[in-house]
Amino acid sequence: MSNNKYKILIVEDEANIRSFIKANLETSDYQVICAETCTLGIMLYASHHPDLIILDLGLPDRDGLDLIRQVRESDTTPIIVLSARSNERDKVEALDLGANDYITKPFGTEELLARIRAVLRSHRQGAENESTPSGKYQLQDLLIDYDKRQVFVGKDEIDLTQTEYNIMAYLSIHAGKVLTYAAIIRAVWGYSDYGSVKKLQVNMKNIRKKMGVTPGEKRYIVNELGVGYRMLEDNL
Ligand code: CA
Repeated sequence: MSNNKYKILIVEDEANIRSFIKANLETSDYQVICAETCTLGIMLYASHHPDLIILDLGLPDRDGLDLIRQVRESDTTPIIVLSARSNERDKVEALDLGANDYITKPFGTEELLARIRAVLRSHRQGAENESTPSGKYQLQDLLIDYDKRQVFVGKDEIDLTQTEYNIMAYLSIHAGKVLTYAAIIRAVWGYSDYGSVKKLQVNMKNIRKKMGVTPGEKRYIVNELGVGYRMLEDNL
């Protein structure tokens, strides 16, 4: 066995989900360790230093959010949360506490592996260039030129306001990752107040319209209902 495999910690109390994930990850050449409780998960995190944590929020002993708090006190190990379909508030809280992404149950192998790859990749790339990105971002026929602060769809430049551009730039820097309303608002306006989410939604609506995207269409940006927005990646 090689030592350079990514080590992934699964914290999940449901045995069939745990073994489903474990089997799939091992097939994809990840090294896997498992915990059925939050307490054991925290212990294994401390002793094994995994490269990534897959975390169920509904655990028998403690709330999975406790594990996120604990991990984020010391480091940036990527965390993907497993969540029930209906529980938007849990997802938002987990993301705002520092989880990197979430997957809604039930989920398939392809989605799971794509999320893991995306989170590991963006973790590797780090956030050094976050404040002043340079270069270009390309997604299908969408092109963002960070140096010139211009956005193109095909050959056409899209005439965005400063705020609209800042939203696009922020989403694209974190492409593949779901960003909560609160995170986008903090990044773009620096503060949030009553009505901020509405303001963001209005801006998003205008951005989509200017880019020729019809309401409900999952082009460039996906609306994660009740949670936030995710810019797509070319390879997802
Ligand atoms: Ca559970």
